[in-house]
Amino acid sequence: MGEKESAADLVVKLGGAPGVRWEAACEDLAEVVRGNTRVVLVHGGSGETNRVAEALGHPPRFVTSPSGYESRFTDRETLEIFAMVIAGRLNSVLVESLQRRGINALGLSGADGRLIVARRKESVRSLEGGKVLLLHGDHTGTIQEVNANLLGQLLGAGYTPVIAPLAISPEGVLLNVDADRAAAAVAAALKAETLVLLTAAPGLLRKFPDEGTLISSLPRDQLPEALEMAQGRMKKKILGAEEALRGGVGRVLLADGRVDHPVSRALAGEGTSIA
Ligand code: ADP
Repeated sequence: MGEKESAADLVVKLGGAPGVRWEAACEDLAEVVRGNTRVVLVHGGSGETNRVAEALGHPPRFVTSPSGYESRFTDRETLEIFAMVIAGRLNSVLVESLQRRGINALGLSGADGRLIVARRKESVRSLEGGKVLLLHGDHTGTIQEVNANLLGQLLGAGYTPVIAPLAISPEGVLLNVDADRAAAAVAAALKAETLVLLTAAPGLLRKFPDEGTLISSLPRDQLPEALEMAQGRMKKKILGAEEALRGGVGRVLLADGRVDHPVSRALAGEGTSIA
């Protein structure tokens, strides 16, 4: 066998949905890293951001696009609250949890070292009262490029990168990006063997929320049908899976983050495997 072309074996995205157990995931990840797997961790946390924004008297505004995707409208103040919570508190807690287990975790956001470059969305289309409104002033980005070289250097030096889903625009404007799409872009840039998306569901459910309808394997050509089954934010995971596979990732595992050993269980075949 020749030298490995990929810079990482495994990219894991840890969701912020209620019930997802971050400590259990870190415990499991520490074991995986000790087993010589090169891991990059990407995390979410928009739920926590929404709570903090509310508490700070700046409640988030949600918009639904004409195609049915719900997202938060991120004005500059919301963006700064997001940065405070996600790149500050949540990222540090994950770094601490891995460090406590002897893993040399290094926290950074996608803005650091131009790790994730994204194009700012000029305007956001919002469906309100049957009309489509164009909203300006959003600080959300569409990912364009990942600095794989930086991650490769960190991994090569033995660090485990922990990435908060912020990005920088080519002009240097801080942006919020979707964590699932960020994990997909990172996995594709590193040509990772596996991308694991951990969330508060056993995987993709044919009839959400009936957990008895878990789809255990899904060929990539059925992703358009999967997009129909997915509701709400699950749609972003399906889009992320599609982008990752198209970018050269070997397989995407959508799995339960509410259990002990969530990563090992996903790798062992629980959850939904998309390839
Ligand atoms: P995260 O914080 O992990 O990104 P979200 O709560 O934003 O998670 O989105 C994942 C959620 O989507 C799941 O916890 C589940 O409640 C919901 N969901 C919607 N449709 C489906 C489906 N078809 N199969 C599984 N989960 C689904």
